[in-house]
Amino acid sequence: MQIRQPIVAVLGHVDSGKTSLLDRIRGTGVQGREAGGITQHIGASFLPSETIKETCGILYKKLEQAEHKVPGILVIDTPGHEVFTNLRSRGGSAADIAILVVDVNRGFQPQTNESLKILQSRKVPFVVALNKCDQISGWRKSDTKFISQAIKEQDASIQTDLDQKIYDVVGTLSILGYQSEAFYRVKDFKSEIAIVPISARSGVGIPELLSVLVGLTQQYLQKRLNQEEKEPRGIVLEVNDEVGLGQTANIILIDGSIKKENSIVVAKRDSVIVTKPKAILLPKPLDEMRDPRDKFKPVPQVDAAAGLKIASPDLEGVLPGSTLYVATNDAEIEKFTKLIEAEMKSVFIDTETN
Ligand code: GDP
Repeated sequence: MQIRQPIVAVLGHVDSGKTSLLDRIRGTGVQGREAGGITQHIGASFLPSETIKETCGILYKKLEQAEHKVPGILVIDTPGHEVFTNLRSRGGSAADIAILVVDVNRGFQPQTNESLKILQSRKVPFVVALNKCDQISGWRKSDTKFISQAIKEQDASIQTDLDQKIYDVVGTLSILGYQSEAFYRVKDFKSEIAIVPISARSGVGIPELLSVLVGLTQQYLQKRLNQEEKEPRGIVLEVNDEVGLGQTANIILIDGSIKKENSIVVAKRDSVIVTKPKAILLPKPLDEMRDPRDKFKPVPQVDAAAGLKIASPDLEGVLPGSTLYVATNDAEIEKFTKLIEAEMKSVFIDTETN
């Protein structure tokens, strides 16, 4: 079995700390550069398992024993559910798993509920990151990055306060139909949502958050991530005109591989187009970037899961959120064209009946 990295989306209310959490996760990778570090994709960051291992420390021991280990995680860089809604793809969601960020002092807020609805409708498993623990009144700063240890170092009244805040979330989630628990009390990760207290600001709790994510993935998402017999497909994040490149599309490749000589089959508003990319592009590493306008480097092939850019004049008018397929021959072009036509029809029926 060949397992790809899961695509991770970050959702939550505005100001709950989504961007800070992403920065913190990326920062973790930058610090761990010697061990592999992070790779910047288009619209996403890849954390290789070596970096996760370094961050999680002893927690990684158990993850390493899994029969099928993920090679890392691909985190979508643009938080906010608008983009996530666009990540909708045939058969559910383009994201495999999500982090729902909740401000520990504010609890569930309107966009937390909206995010949850999206996760629910797309059947995406998720972990709750209960953020801004450092802002709990009386919270004592400590040197550890492990939240389990940091909690032990707090006064009893602060521990009770945190527990109460966790139970508020448990209560809210229970009304919404979910069983949940603080991750250290979860008995069955399949039926209970894990709540991980963190601080995106200090970084405490990130090791636990990442290990819960990887653990869940390795245990429950194997079939979804198995790359054998998967159609090579992706999703369009945005289409724009880039200086020197012309029409380009930023895409997340969900399954399979894309090569320069392949054909891309994708929908426009009312037709299906087949195009061979002029180039497949990845961001240039910072140290290779001499001119800020010269941001991308052409590559011959990219494997899922990945964020990349393709350039082709035919892409003009392709809508964000469209599914795209990668075809290697005429028969596949025909098969994928029919598939997209069927999808377009079903979308049409959906809008008509709603
Ligand atoms: P977003 O709108 O969900 O992306 O939230 P941001 O990441 O922009 O954070 C909103 C505000 O909360 C910013 O001022 C952050 O500095 C602050 N913030 C985010 N995470 C933490 C945290 O863990 N602790 C504290 N004290 N502040 C935080």
